[in-house]
Amino acid sequence: MMYIGRKRLFSLVLAAVLAFGCLYIPAEAKTCGCGEVVRVWVDGFGNAVFQNPGTQEETRVPNQDTSQLFPDIFNILGAGLESLLTWTTGKFTDAVTQMLKNLLWTWEFNDDGTSANNIGRTWHIDEERNHTESPQYDFSYDYRIDPITAAGQLNDFIEKLCQVTGHRKIALIGHSEGSCVALSYLAIYGSSRLETIILVNGAWQGVTLVGQLFTKKVTLVPEAITNFIADVQDGNETLQWVADMLLGSGILDILPALDSWWESEILPPMYSKALGPIALKMPVMQSFVPIEDWPEARKVLKALPGTKALLKLADRYHNDIQAKAGSILKKALRNGVKVAITASYNHAPIPVTADWDYQSDGFLSSKHESGYAGFARYKGNELPPSPAKYRSPDGMVDASTCLLPEYTWFVKNQRHDSSPSRALREFIITSKTIPTVRTSKDFPQYLIVTESGVEPLK
Ligand SMILES: [Zn+2]
Repeated sequence: MMYIGRKRLFSLVLAAVLAFGCLYIPAEAKTCGCGEVVRVWVDGFGNAVFQNPGTQEETRVPNQDTSQLFPDIFNILGAGLESLLTWTTGKFTDAVTQMLKNLLWTWEFNDDGTSANNIGRTWHIDEERNHTESPQYDFSYDYRIDPITAAGQLNDFIEKLCQVTGHRKIALIGHSEGSCVALSYLAIYGSSRLETIILVNGAWQGVTLVGQLFTKKVTLVPEAITNFIADVQDGNETLQWVADMLLGSGILDILPALDSWWESEILPPMYSKALGPIALKMPVMQSFVPIEDWPEARKVLKALPGTKALLKLADRYHNDIQAKAGSILKKALRNGVKVAITASYNHAPIPVTADWDYQSDGFLSSKHESGYAGFARYKGNELPPSPAKYRSPDGMVDASTCLLPEYTWFVKNQRHDSSPSRALREFIITSKTIPTVRTSKDFPQYLIVTESGVEPLK
């Protein structure tokens, strides 16, 4: 008979107890076997925020308060005329900064990173709702806060939702800023509640526009402005009129001549009086800075008064979440989570930056949405030859440089709102295995918007 030492016996018993302990998973209050996938949609920038949130006195405040816009523009025109006559700029920049302050007062934050003016937003789950009929739950949060804080609230939301629905796992979809929140959630709280994570037209790797705003590369390029108007007008008669007027009058030709005046006289006071203390100090704005711009943007933020707490928070996001996105998502894949990234391209970017002809969805930069695919310039020539496996049929995109090339889809001509590619997301959410860009002929790596949704790009 085999002799088992006392110590060995003890460890065998302990191992058995542990093994049984693992098999015995305490049941949730209820478990649901409906077969439906509960989805959590995390939307992006510019959702409703409220003064006195979560109280009886809760009142919605505007994201941009335009109530003073007309008198402010009138003041700017008057001050501009006076500037021209007297060859001074003080009153003009004062008028511009006053307009920005009136527009953006709900964006103000205190030095400790809390909101000024007691503004915020709380989430709510309707416990009576039938999730088999409407399985998508929108997570509402204060879009102005940093993604790590928002991810903490998302964790509470998901835990409560699992308890209410009896589902152990959910599909998490982060759109736009929501992708930063979803990625932060995955990084900090892990993937045990996730069967799917989709980052849709997301800012999870930053936004060219915001990087340029922080690094003070704000400028007006005539061709960028006409590109933008031509792209957005889409049959709109007023915009078409504006485009024709701008192009026909030659008024844009004076912009390059104004460059040095703009840079020396207008930008510095705008940054020190309005953009810096309001827009750049709003915590979410810092998380939109791409990693390549962060060292320089960090210096700009550091030079502003009262940003010590903000810097700590923003550094954590950039170093622990944004820079590690690739490994965070790959780890989720290894844990069996369906991971998908979707990006849009072939729309003109917002025409206020020195990098003016990058590919975008009309708002965010396609390069960052896709986790660093290579793109031809907007309206530019095709890319140089690249590996055929990841090259788009139109020659405009090379996905081989993406963080996750096998899990990244591209939708040509789709705008930021992403509704045309709903079927792509449904394909991913309902797929029984982890889908790649090679799993389905209907949903290859490159798609294009059609009347009714999307189809493979040929
Ligand atoms: Zn269910």
